[in-house]
Amino acid sequence: MREACLVTLPCEAHEDSIEGYMAHLEKLIGMLLGNLDDTCVVIPCDSTEAWIVAAYDGSEKAEEIEDPWISTMSKKKFYHDVRIPGIKKRTRIFEQFASVVCLEKKKGR
Ligand SMILES: [Zn+2]
Repeated sequence: MREACLVTLPCEAHEDSIEGYMAHLEKLIGMLLGNLDDTCVVIPCDSTEAWIVAAYDGSEKAEEIEDPWISTMSKKKFYHDVRIPGIKKRTRIFEQFASVVCLEKKKGR
């Protein structure tokens, strides 16, 4: 369930940015491990949007696109056959990308 997930981002305490996500996840891992002094936290910069752009556009460089939601997905009224009603990210929209992303993932993209 989405509400119960501790890693649902952005949360209220952290900004919706790569830095905000990193701070949030570092805090979360710190809560679980207690002490991060001897731990190296590595957070992949890969995002859900990058997965979607890679699956739909077949772009090898999707992970290098800066903010794929803004620069690619929400630029027009439709991203492929999915209607994008505005700049705000909505679960309802992302749900529609899931099957194609999973299919492409199985193909090994
Ligand atoms: Zn947070």
